[in-house]
Amino acid sequence: MLKLPSRKEVIEKFKNNGGKIAAVAPYHYPKALFRAFNILPIELWGPPKQNTLESKSNIQTYVCSVAHSILAFYKKGMLKDCDFILIPHTCDSLQGLGSIFLDFLNPSQKVLTFYLPRGRRNVDLCFLRKEIKKIYKLLCEFTGQKPDYEEIINWIKTEEKAVSLQKKLIKNRLFLNIDDYSLYKIIRSKEYLPAEEFVKIAEKTLSAKKTNEKSARIPIIMSGLVPEPLEIMKIINEKNGIVTGDDFAAIGRRFYPQSEGNDPFIRIAKSLLNSPPDSSRGDSVKFRLNHLLNLASKTDAKGVVFYIITFCEMEYFYLPHLKKGLREKGIKSIVIDTDINQSLSQQAITRLEVFMETLQ
Ligand code: SF4
Repeated sequence: MLKLPSRKEVIEKFKNNGGKIAAVAPYHYPKALFRAFNILPIELWGPPKQNTLESKSNIQTYVCSVAHSILAFYKKGMLKDCDFILIPHTCDSLQGLGSIFLDFLNPSQKVLTFYLPRGRRNVDLCFLRKEIKKIYKLLCEFTGQKPDYEEIINWIKTEEKAVSLQKKLIKNRLFLNIDDYSLYKIIRSKEYLPAEEFVKIAEKTLSAKKTNEKSARIPIIMSGLVPEPLEIMKIINEKNGIVTGDDFAAIGRRFYPQSEGNDPFIRIAKSLLNSPPDSSRGDSVKFRLNHLLNLASKTDAKGVVFYIITFCEMEYFYLPHLKKGLREKGIKSIVIDTDINQSLSQQAITRLEVFMETLQ
């Protein structure tokens, strides 16, 4: 497998070259804008496998493991190399976490929040543009820099190239001679690598692993917040499955469309707003269901695995409706609950194995 640099190595290298680091909570945010200020966003999808004892004094036990891990990670001093912390208001848990950072913890890093509109109307576009402009003004104030429109647009293009390659890796999935665990490690490296480095790795993977032979494995779609623990991919492959459709918030729901125009704030806002249907954006069940059905028809997927983080309410609300809609169209689905700080339970593994067997 291709050797990927660790987050620590990436942070050290970026800082040694004069850059700054922003730790970013899940999951929509104006990434290109940060790069225009020579700030590298490093995403915090947990991280997993944390002892969350220290977060329990600030967050209730019925809040998801992602929010607990972020706080525990901070309290252990693991964000000390970061200059900024960005917490988008993705859900109630992260909104609460943003308040804890701003009102109680008084961190040495500058804390920014980012509101996303729950709609796709013109008024939402105007609101989002203002939010992105707000971040721009704060970064100007914090860094003393003022990148012009052209600089920001150049970074938008670089980020868009990285997204297009992520899409290509998934689109060509059946023709890539690589297991899902390794492929997802590469796909997810975009969460911490500078986009230009991710582009090189993705291009290398596409050229080195592409074959003319279509995989005969059973195509499935995966949905949820983030593929964590990633070991689930090994079980799917062991049971002759292959992930050909991605509806994870960390990946497929951030397959932002390309943008155009001279106003970088509008470009970023339109891209974020026109991303695939998403629970955190309040999209309708119908919109999400049609998206999954579309993915299934394009990829011949036989089933959908909803890999859900326990207590992630915004995902749970959709599940009964999505499962029913898929069943009516002959597509089987299963819900696997997970805690990012624990290994996949034997019960979950057995249920998934049985599900995969029903698709043979
Ligand atoms: S897992 Fe769900 S509830 Fe938890 S931070 Fe992510 S979106 Fe919010």
